[in-house]
Order: sequence, then C-alpha cells, then structure tokens
Amino acid sequence: MSPPKPRPGVLDVAPYVGGLHTVEGVSQVIVLASNETPIGPSEHAIRAYQSASRVLHRYPDGHATELRAVLGRHFGCDKDRIVCGAGSDEVIQLLIRAYAGAGDEVLYSRHGFSIYRIFATGVGAKAVAAPEKVLTADVDALLAKVTDRTRLVFIANPNNPTGSYLPTDELQRLRDGLPEHVLLVIDAAYAEYVSRNDYTAGIEMVDRHDNVVMTRTFSKIYGLAAVRLGWAYCPAAVADVLNRLRGPFNVNEPAQLAGIAALEDTKHIAASQAHNAKWLPWLATTLGGLGLTAHPSVGNFVLAQFPDARGAEEAYAFLLTRGIITRKMGSYDLPDCLRITVGLENEMRALAAALGEHLGRS
Ligand SMILES: *Cc1c(COP(=O)(O)O)cnc(C)c1O
Repeated sequence: MSPPKPRPGVLDVAPYVGGLHTVEGVSQVIVLASNETPIGPSEHAIRAYQSASRVLHRYPDGHATELRAVLGRHFGCDKDRIVCGAGSDEVIQLLIRAYAGAGDEVLYSRHGFSIYRIFATGVGAKAVAAPEKVLTADVDALLAKVTDRTRLVFIANPNNPTGSYLPTDELQRLRDGLPEHVLLVIDAAYAEYVSRNDYTAGIEMVDRHDNVVMTRTFSKIYGLAAVRLGWAYCPAAVADVLNRLRGPFNVNEPAQLAGIAALEDTKHIAASQAHNAKWLPWLATTLGGLGLTAHPSVGNFVLAQFPDARGAEEAYAFLLTRGIITRKMGSYDLPDCLRITVGLENEMRALAAALGEHLGRS
C-alpha cells in the first residue's frame, strides 16, 4: 500500500509568492508590491458589484454573454472568440493544460512572469527559459530554444517585473519564426498603461493567425484584482478548446457585472492612465537621483536595481519599518532589485523620503 501520489511535476512546483498587504505593528501601510492601481476601482464598478449581492443564490451566466459583448465592442474583437476566466491566471493555466503535458516544453523569457513556469511545471511539462538582452525578451534567443517538443511560448508584453516590452515588429518576427503548431501567448496585462506607437497588445495578430492568443486582465488598470477577472482573445479553435476545459461557471456574477461597469467608465480609465503617465517617470527619475538604476518601464511599476543583493534586501527591510511594502525579486533571479508599483502622490513622496533617508545613512 502506498499513499496517493500527485501526477509528475506537481511536487516540483515552487508555489507563487504574492506581495504583502500588511506589516505587523504598522496600521497605515503603503502597498507598492503587487502592481495594483492606487486609484482603486470605478465607482460604477463598485455599485455593479454590490447589485450582484441580491442574486447570490443564482448561478452566474456561464457564457459571460454580456461581458463578452461589451469586451468585443470596446476592443474591436469578435466576442465569440473571447473566453473569460477567474483572472488571466486561470486562462493561462487553461491554455497550458490544454496544449502541454508530460514531456512537452513551454518556452518563456528568462525574467518573464513566473506564473508560466509554475503552471507548466504543474502539468509535468518542462519550462524552458530563453536568455534576455538588457532585461528585455530576445526574439532570436527565444526562437533558438524552440524544439519539436515546444508547445507554447509565453511573452508578457510589457513584461512584469522588468517593465520592458517588445515592439510590434519584433513580436511579429517572433510569431513568424515559430512553427505553426506552436501557440504564441501574448500576456498584455499592462496594455492600458502603454502609450508607445510601436506597441500592440496583439489583437490584430490574433485575427491574422491561428496560433496567437492574447490574454488581458481586470486586475491592473481596472482595479478589480480582488474579484478575479481576465480574458483571452483566441483563434476559433483555441476558444473552442478552452470552453470545453474550463469550469461551466468559472467567472462569478459580481465579477462579470463589475467588469462591464469598469470597461464602460472610460473617464476612470483615462484618469488612471494620466496618473501613471505623471508618476511613473517621477518614480524612475527619483530612484535614479538616489543612485539606483531604474530600468525603463512602460507599465505601472519600476524595477529598481541596487549595487548588490544586500543593498536591495536592506532597503526592503528599512522600507517595511516605515510601512512601505515593495517586492523582492529573488524568485525572478534578480536579487539585487526591488519592484516598486506607482502609487498615489503622497505614497510616492513617502517612498522617496524613506529611501533617501536609508541610502543617505548607509
Ligand atoms: C498581474 C499580471 C497578470 C494578471 O493576473 P490576474 O490573474 O488577471 O490577476 C497577468 N500577467 C502578468 C504579466 C501580470 O503582471
């Protein structure tokens, strides 16, 4: 007799470690650890969420019909090829479960978002990391790692935690260099923050090719991380596969209603974009002024590099004593870095003052 054993790969997973939201002994914290919007959700989304409390005894619309229709109109997508999930994490996991298994390879970029590796490992596949150039995905290096076992390639664009992005022509070159049977997944979680004319979230690439999927989230600029809502825009065959595999009611009703309201509140989105456009460069410049390397970012966060791992660790600990929570980057192989989310003005000024005090002293 032997006890139940999970499938190969499961016990190889190093579980995801999220950012902190509390500090023991500190009542007023400044949370800059999880790339959440400091502006919060739209008031309309909050009201829509509350309205769902009266129908909690009913199952949600298992097809997210209205939400997909609004998404389709808002982004110019075919609503029939949109699949919603409990966060884009769920959609990413479904893609990996559907297209990879034991012995297969899932390719990502060395400092790419860690969820790809976690889910790939969990299905028994091999997560293969391609080297980067200056903390940016390298198309040639990715293509060089493709083998006949490769099933999916994940690219977060822009990438978390580095903040870097691949311009449209490079993304297209990556797709064109892949064998047709390899699925390219473009994770555009931060697309709303990017204001570059050589950037694409990937919608028209999905429309043009049978092996490109784009994933999006309501957790970032829409301020709905708690409700867990994300979606994928897919070729028809991939949408069909995800719809077979997903749970029949995988997106709850409060999330669907809040998501619709959040999409329609374009004023709120514009205000969040404007806030970030002002404070992202301010944060980068301020970190630079303190002698740190602020890696160029087009998201709502900055990767700050210290002279060494000890410097990053000490700054992290000092900031915590001031109730300021940033994100350590050891799990991304960047132990000399902290990732810092753009916060409110007073939060940014408090961070700058605390870091200045710490670095001036050491
Ligand atoms: C935050 C983030 C997501 C969003 O995940 P959700 O499950 O939708 O909350 C996806 N991809 C990247 C790269 C992210 O940073």
